[in-house]
Amino acid sequence: MQDQIAKCADLTHESTPHQSGDFCPACGATTTASGQYTFDSGRGETPWTRCSSCATYFMTGEYDHVAETDHTRHMAWGNEAEGTRLNRLKQNGFKATLGQIESLGYGCSKILDVGCSFGGILVEAEKRGFECAGLDIVPEAVAYVSSLGFRAEQCCSLNDCTLFSEQNPVDVISVLDAHIYWPDQPAELRAARQLLRDDGLLVIRAVTKSAFITTGRLVGSVSPGMSKKLIRRAIADHRFSMPLKSLLKTVEEAGFEILSASPRGAQHTDSAPLSARAAFAMGTLLWHSFGLSIAPTTLVFARKKAG
Ligand SMILES: [Zn+2]
Repeated sequence: MQDQIAKCADLTHESTPHQSGDFCPACGATTTASGQYTFDSGRGETPWTRCSSCATYFMTGEYDHVAETDHTRHMAWGNEAEGTRLNRLKQNGFKATLGQIESLGYGCSKILDVGCSFGGILVEAEKRGFECAGLDIVPEAVAYVSSLGFRAEQCCSLNDCTLFSEQNPVDVISVLDAHIYWPDQPAELRAARQLLRDDGLLVIRAVTKSAFITTGRLVGSVSPGMSKKLIRRAIADHRFSMPLKSLLKTVEEAGFEILSASPRGAQHTDSAPLSARAAFAMGTLLWHSFGLSIAPTTLVFARKKAG
């Protein structure tokens, strides 16, 4: 396993040559970043800036695959006891996502879950007749998912995935709450496109909380405590926070057609606090009525374009 990690680290180093602070991991622009911030997040106090091309807030500094794997091991989704508990908690969200995948005509197809953790959506998808496989950065998660009988691989990048290829493509790729950890999102989207069959489906459960960071910054001078709390909750332990419209543009530029993007179905559980459910309901209404994105998460469905 150590060899695998070392191999993975080497490949990551090769495939992500952009290590400077002004490379935006969300859109891939190398334009001058605007503003320097220190945000307190699930990773402690870290330096952040904002991309002048796509308005994404992102953590600056180098991406180290080994450190990222260690970090993930300490998160709830990085260990078996908490990871399997999260699976149960998120069950309704998985079912809603799979229901939408089926309604788009991809039922009982081959699905690859990126950042599969301890197998949440794979377990639900198998019950509905999908042929499932998963990738994760944490070796223990991959071992667990493999023990359940799924094809799984320890990967830090879709570029390293050997479970599928252009000659042996997959029908659906799901990326649930994982895109915000990618050191180079455009490269990962292009790699996803290569692994998908013609007209294959990409599903991203996107975290779209950058407006909360902006709000947190704006209230900083009057209420530092609230500011810190808002920003910390918006970032959690993510590496970037991207506005929805910028994400959709980036997905399109990677060779996909957006089929839908909606907060509907992106909620994990029906037992969320009333305030969270109200935020989702309001977010859904604003997005569908005015194209305004304030929902904390959004389900994006995109189809691979030919060519
Ligand atoms: Zn950007």
